[in-house]
Amino acid sequence: MEPRWPKAYKTKVVEPIRLLNRADRETRLQQAGHNVFNLAAGDVYVDLLTDSGTGAMSQAQWAALVEGDESYAGSASYERFLETVREITGMPHVLPTHQGRAAEHVLFSTLLEPGCIVPSNTHFDTTRANVIAAGGRAVDLPIPEARDPEDLHPFKGNMDVAALQALIAREGAERIPAVIMTITNNTVAGQPVSLANLREVAALARERGIPLFLDAARHAENAFFIREREQGQQHRSIPDIAREVFGLADGCLMSAKKDGLANIGGFLAVHDAALWARCRERLILVEGFPTYGGLAGRDLGAVAVGLREAMGLAYLRDRIGQVAWLARELHERQIPVYRPPGGHAVYVDARGTLPHIPAARFPGQALVCALYVEGGIRAVEVGTVMFGDAAHMDLVRLAVPRRVYAQEHLAWVAETLESIRVRATEVKGLQMTEGEGPLRHFVARFRPVG
Ligand SMILES: *Cc1c(COP(=O)(O)O)cnc(C)c1O
Repeated sequence: MEPRWPKAYKTKVVEPIRLLNRADRETRLQQAGHNVFNLAAGDVYVDLLTDSGTGAMSQAQWAALVEGDESYAGSASYERFLETVREITGMPHVLPTHQGRAAEHVLFSTLLEPGCIVPSNTHFDTTRANVIAAGGRAVDLPIPEARDPEDLHPFKGNMDVAALQALIAREGAERIPAVIMTITNNTVAGQPVSLANLREVAALARERGIPLFLDAARHAENAFFIREREQGQQHRSIPDIAREVFGLADGCLMSAKKDGLANIGGFLAVHDAALWARCRERLILVEGFPTYGGLAGRDLGAVAVGLREAMGLAYLRDRIGQVAWLARELHERQIPVYRPPGGHAVYVDARGTLPHIPAARFPGQALVCALYVEGGIRAVEVGTVMFGDAAHMDLVRLAVPRRVYAQEHLAWVAETLESIRVRATEVKGLQMTEGEGPLRHFVARFRPVG
């Protein structure tokens, strides 16, 4: 016999959780201004707010923490980290950072000039903000299929290569200091990017003399999708695919809070020694000495171990299998979800789930609130609250932390959403009473209306 869904780990340390009763959940939500970012984590039963830094570390990672070498310069944990990053990426010049956005800041403040243009398959929000902070313009060039939540294209994270070509022709290659490929494409529902698309973008960028960088937070999940879905890739190992993908780029940025399986950390790696030396100056100013870069030695050790574990095939099958299972459960219960599911989260279409609530009354946020009241579940709105009137969808992201929840937790999420769907008309829309600017979703407050 073969298990239908083989697990890649068992539990050794447990963290207690509890489900508050419904009346208490209602009170807590009201006190939080109907914004779940204001809830105490202990009042949440299943926390799907983010998959960033929320994973469970392995026994090998905890051992690396204990072995952490806290020497200011040249620590053994750094050596282990450096060797791992070099092996995975093939890039010789590496700088550790405290998380992904610090790597973005160091690279962009060094590389970008005011007035420049930086195209991407889709910028992640901190990447976009760091491009803008350096005086650049961040341009998103996703393929058109990405906008259709029902289109079953296997690589909806891809870049529109013709659009990139047109942009370069229009603006001139000299105004474009970098092309960034985000793998997987976080902002486009965590959709993967195909090897073929990465090869095409890399060839075009090289031909026009533009450096290509990978925003590689979920590169291992992306490699898994390439292995599963792309023709001729089934025989390859994940590290082998990853090595080819990194080999296409001039440099990469990574948040180790995702496929580093760590609670904190990140890095920047490049081929160009001169660029690395310039970034190193900046790193010392804003992060720390180049052998620790804003991290403790023990964190570097945990990241080194996690980067390898995240490329394990059994781990990835389990991880992506969990996300796919939740998406299938919801689809079968007639909850409209973005399809096919990506690597790290399931996105529920809130306008489809709560059709009686108009966009101006924030159906995504209303569904987030209903998930908490109904099941003690914390999710995040990706729609009109986050993007304002520019939002063309109101989605609710259910991000699955790595190695944390069992199928029972996720089954509860599916049951809760079904119970909301059958009594959908009882869910009220919201009015925003506080909050403005591009980061208002973190601080906004609401009150129910209607
Ligand atoms: C999380 C993330 C970042 C930023 O990393 P932090 O560690 O949160 O600073 C950048 N890009 C992508 C694609 C991400 O998912």
